[in-house]
Amino acid sequence: MQYDANCIFCKIVHGIIPCAKLYEDDDVMAFLDVNPVTYGHALVISKAHYSNFLATPKDVMNKVMNVAQRIGQVQMEQLGAKGVNILINCKEAAGQEVQHFHVHVIPRYKATDGFKLELKQLKDVNLPSIAAEIKEKL
Ligand code: AMP
Ligand code: ZN
Repeated sequence: MQYDANCIFCKIVHGIIPCAKLYEDDDVMAFLDVNPVTYGHALVISKAHYSNFLATPKDVMNKVMNVAQRIGQVQMEQLGAKGVNILINCKEAAGQEVQHFHVHVIPRYKATDGFKLELKQLKDVNLPSIAAEIKEKL
């Protein structure tokens, strides 16, 4: 299993630092975020070290997403959440602080419960041109 001795999430996987664990199997672990933005904010990670979403093998990513979905369902059923935000920050430009693949599962209770994505719209976009640029490599 890939391991980075300087990585805080690898240290959690290997029991070197503690966490409030929710779930563990051979490939996936889930625990509460130590700085929650809402009540029950959870992180789901691969146990092997992959630096981000784009660097994670598909089979591992699928297993992580399966656990993220289940945790979201339980946050609704058990914590009384009214919705869930699923958030993956990928690389520093996107706000990723811990360079080990993880998915935030953020239960939402109302629109003003403390978590908000600020979406500012671009002006003067040429959608067909952007779509063509992306599709060229898909
Ligand atoms: P990101 O910006 O997506 O890399 O978010 C990393 C998240 O990891 C942050 O929300 C931190 O609060 C959380 N975090 C950092 N260290 C720990 C830790 N030891 N236990 C639980 N969560 C942590
Ligand atoms: Zn790691």
